[in-house]
Amino acid sequence: MLPVAASGSAMSNTGSVTLEDRLKRETTGEVLFDRFNRGRYATDASFYQIMPAGVVVPRTIDEALRTLSICRDDGRIVTPRGGGTSQCGQTVNDGIVIDFSKHLNRIVSLDVENRTCVVEPGIVLDDLNRQLKKRGLWFPVDVSTASRATIGGMAGNNSCGGRSLRYGTMRDNTLAMDAALADGSLLHFGEVPRDLAQVNSSDSGLDLFRDMLALGEREAAEIAEKFPKVQRRVGGYNLDALVPRNAPNNMAHLLVGSEGTLAFTTKVELKLWPVIRNKVLGVCHFGSFYQAMDAAQHLVKLRPIAVELVDRTMLALGREIAMFQPIIGVAVRGDPDISASAGTKPNANGAAWSRSRSRACRPASPSFAPPASMS
Ligand SMILES: Cc1cc2nc3c(=O)[nH]c(=O)nc-3n(C[C@H](O)[C@H](O)[C@H](O)COP(=O)(O)OP(=O)(O)OC[C@H]3O[C@@H](n4cnc5c(N)ncnc54)[C@H](O)[C@@H]3O)c2cc1C
Repeated sequence: MLPVAASGSAMSNTGSVTLEDRLKRETTGEVLFDRFNRGRYATDASFYQIMPAGVVVPRTIDEALRTLSICRDDGRIVTPRGGGTSQCGQTVNDGIVIDFSKHLNRIVSLDVENRTCVVEPGIVLDDLNRQLKKRGLWFPVDVSTASRATIGGMAGNNSCGGRSLRYGTMRDNTLAMDAALADGSLLHFGEVPRDLAQVNSSDSGLDLFRDMLALGEREAAEIAEKFPKVQRRVGGYNLDALVPRNAPNNMAHLLVGSEGTLAFTTKVELKLWPVIRNKVLGVCHFGSFYQAMDAAQHLVKLRPIAVELVDRTMLALGREIAMFQPIIGVAVRGDPDISASAGTKPNANGAAWSRSRSRACRPASPSFAPPASMS
């Protein structure tokens, strides 16, 4: 939810009609104020439900920005929305919901050599990866909701996927963002030199960035002491992106994880990776959840791309589903309580994998399925 930047009329039925008329007159996107469509956007993947005043589905980024401006005049809050797969009510509100997923879903540019691309925020992860695959590249932040989740929403939530152990989170793979603030100013958020005072530019964002970096410097000790040292953290703003470090600070990393509350993302520049051609899967079986968790510390030393824990319930359910039966037949021996699988590249050190059998798996389990090649 982007806060209201300018004062405007309070929310009222009369105001709502005026706003609807103005949105319909000044944009060509879908302007949905009827009860049925508002009801559709009153929910997402969370269990929260809030009826929005209206919904706009813009056809262009300019139209999305015009909607923002009209809502500002009217004193309405706006909530940007991608696939709506958030689980904590991030995309439901009583103002105007702007749906980026239907039309704002293009790859704006692709640099194969430097493995980067710029996309509109509404592009769905699977669609992006389908297009990148032809060029031998992919975006590896592989959330489970990849067939619905959009890059704008993934950035909003600082999403991460099963392979984050190797590739990191959205923050690690976001190079820059273009975004509009609540007052409508459109800024480029990317790497900035620490000493912005030396930069001679008329860029309107510089004052803001200078203030942000000063805040990071002032609070550096507190941030170092209080911020949890974990790979993925989504509780609050990434203020640690602002503290002094031996490299330029990336202002886009402050927007990542901000759930649409700081700015309205219009473009995202992403870091891409070569497609993994062949994979190997190693599977350990355990007698208890504790033993499986305890083994993880040894498994990650093998530098796998992913480590997954699958419990007895999931194995049983998987055996009932035709598409999973072949892999379960190969990978699972007997009837373990817990199975942990670690995926890696086929050229990974085979000896290390074998050693993992004694280090990580054997104490907990009688059963170890050796690495199996997968396509
Ligand atoms: C079954 C299930 C499995 C899941 N698995 C994972 C998982 O493996 N990993 C994971 O990280 N998450 C997971 N999630 C959570 C969710 O799917 C992800 O966070 C997903 O990336 C959100 O994408 P979305 O397009 O649906 O975003 P939305 O839910 O539409 O939006 C997410 C946030 O981004 C903001 N936003 C959207 N577009 C913009 C924009 N243009 N500008 C500014 N802000 C914007 C929204 O306001 C909101 O705050 C799962 C959810 C479900 C239901």
